[in-house]
Amino acid sequence: MEYEAVIGLETHVQLKTKSKIWCGCANEFGAPPNTNVCPVCLGLPGVLPVANEEALRLTTLTGLLLNCTIAPFAKFDRKNYFYPDMPKNYQITQYDRPSTLAGYVDFEFSGALSRVRITRAHLEEDVGKNFHFERNSGVDFNRAGVPLMEIVSEPDITSAEMAYEYLCSLKDILMYGGVSDCDMEKGMVRCDVNVSVRPKGQQELGAKIEIKNMNSFSGVRRALEYEIRRQIEVVSRGGTLIQSTRRWDDVAEITEEMRTKERAHDYRYFPEPDLMPFQPTESWLREIAQRVVELPLARKQRFMREYHLPAADAQTFVWDVPLGGYFESIAKQARNPKAVANWVINNLRAKLTEANASLPELRFSASSISELADLVDSGKISSKIAQDVFGDMFEIGDAPGKIVERRGLAQVSDTAALEQFCDQAIVANPGPASDFKAGKVAALNFLKGQVMKLSKGKANPALVGEILERKLKA
Ligand SMILES: [Zn+2]
Repeated sequence: MEYEAVIGLETHVQLKTKSKIWCGCANEFGAPPNTNVCPVCLGLPGVLPVANEEALRLTTLTGLLLNCTIAPFAKFDRKNYFYPDMPKNYQITQYDRPSTLAGYVDFEFSGALSRVRITRAHLEEDVGKNFHFERNSGVDFNRAGVPLMEIVSEPDITSAEMAYEYLCSLKDILMYGGVSDCDMEKGMVRCDVNVSVRPKGQQELGAKIEIKNMNSFSGVRRALEYEIRRQIEVVSRGGTLIQSTRRWDDVAEITEEMRTKERAHDYRYFPEPDLMPFQPTESWLREIAQRVVELPLARKQRFMREYHLPAADAQTFVWDVPLGGYFESIAKQARNPKAVANWVINNLRAKLTEANASLPELRFSASSISELADLVDSGKISSKIAQDVFGDMFEIGDAPGKIVERRGLAQVSDTAALEQFCDQAIVANPGPASDFKAGKVAALNFLKGQVMKLSKGKANPALVGEILERKLKA
């Protein structure tokens, strides 16, 4: 029997705010333990939370970027449970009235477009972090109260690879929107995975297994590959899976059972009495709508469509946003945007890396790149010479036309001059010349090379080939 996997993801993302969600402590990674704390985020009795408006804005912005409905009424709730890294004994989150609902993410997967529906994206607070030492344990509360968004997907994902691609697209969208830096190394994105298997074609879902707290996308992919294999094996030999929570062991590359969960946890949710429900106004929403940016996929498709770029070039400009912006500023007026893309990707990027420089430091004006491409296209200079001109442009900042003129680099297409070079080359190299006459076609390239040398690289290679052939065949 053939089985299929059904996967849903809950992705937690730390928001890019200056301060925490309920207090003025810095939202900052890497500070010495327990230095960004105050009575509010330490959960001391009697304190009151004050909502960080930027966190609310970023959540709404995420809703817009993920094609969600923005709830006209949202509220916060207390999720009650005990854990050492959460001194209040409850987490403030959004339970039944989240800020955003019912959206979707489109992304490229396996050569086509895939869509994963988004159930909701809601706002909550992060908790502290436990550290276990040899003889004791400690808690760092710097992370407690960092604004955290939970993005819940529908179980639309069918493979480990698809989960991976979905996560990468989600991350790109959030980074593009300035919602989060999504730095995985700093734990800014964490994932809970729900996965079950069922015989292909069956409607009813299998027992849902949750894998908690994954902090890398490749870990998610490997955990899913393992877990799907494991579940299929159990089911296909007649075993039964029960709803449970498992942990991914990245070293052993296996999932292990942590606890079985026959009933849902009872967190005794109730509305947070210290925070007002949130009802965004029209003008507030309009202001946030202005922060919506073009999404990575839309940008890629537009670059391919408008500038006739191959997918790989367009993808480069999606990953490197400033470089893409720079390219576009030139390509809009350029005769040959593809050639401009080649210069920007192959030459400019390499030079910038080599010189450890950035785009604003460039000495030449952006239009110089399209001018250079035009000089090659029109046959005024060879593409080899163009490399030298580009080098000069980069060093001194002159326009390519000026460099070509000053250094006398224009391609020689004057037949009389070329004839002379060809005669010289034939006389100086009787061996290859007679080889060609005897039918060794490759000998022509050698002679062509000699003519290019005599002309200091300026001869028009196509013309040289024609002239040499004519002379040798005569
Ligand atoms: Zn605080």
